[in-house]
Amino acid sequence: MSSAAAQDAAAWTAAEGFFREERLARLGVAHGVTTRALGNMKDAKLRAAAMEKAGLGGRPLFVPHQVHGTRVEPIESAALGEAPKADGWIFRRKDVAAAVYAADCLPIFIWERSGAALGVFHSGWRGTAAGMPETAAAAFRKHYGLGADRLCAAVGPHIGPCCYKVGADVAGRFAAASVSRRSGGLYLDLGAEAKTRLVRAGLAPEAVSVCESCTCCESATFYSFRRQKEDCRMMAFCAYGHGS
Ligand SMILES: [Zn+2]
Repeated sequence: MSSAAAQDAAAWTAAEGFFREERLARLGVAHGVTTRALGNMKDAKLRAAAMEKAGLGGRPLFVPHQVHGTRVEPIESAALGEAPKADGWIFRRKDVAAAVYAADCLPIFIWERSGAALGVFHSGWRGTAAGMPETAAAAFRKHYGLGADRLCAAVGPHIGPCCYKVGADVAGRFAAASVSRRSGGLYLDLGAEAKTRLVRAGLAPEAVSVCESCTCCESATFYSFRRQKEDCRMMAFCAYGHGS
């Protein structure tokens, strides 16, 4: 394992039904990617229970109407319950929580390294090919004047290159380095592609962690759209902690 890969592996830990990233935890950011243990996050009751467990009970939760696009919405200009057609949030408000749904797609957290702004994004193959990672990074400059050199990113559990078989039409939309061929099939490494794009957008390579857990292989832990074909979703969320 390369030292970068070792660092990635160490960056994410699972506890109490959540996957969490070490640097975000150290910053005091309440965050996580939910797992099967917490149930289907499309269910409002289970979602509220998960937020309660994360210490965010009662906090207004902003969830967009995801369209596999690249639109990023600043929460400061959104109204609670409106669910704009977008695939990510950025915010500086201390009194809200932001979330996106995912099952196989990439949940991506991006934040200013000292916590001056936070963001959470959903990026499947369509969004990633259309530039969601770069658009997400650029939104921090556009809305808050924060350059990419000040940003950190963490890509959460997603379908890995072990399982993500794609057709030539999909594979052709990605960097050759993100696609591998074996037994006549093409396999996409969406996490590697996202990292490449974030670095191209100006983030330092060492500022980007990629979780190595595969949502499709690890079916006891995660919902996988590809494996189960069921309409269950996990949720990636973040919020300023009570002390931050
Ligand atoms: Zn896998």
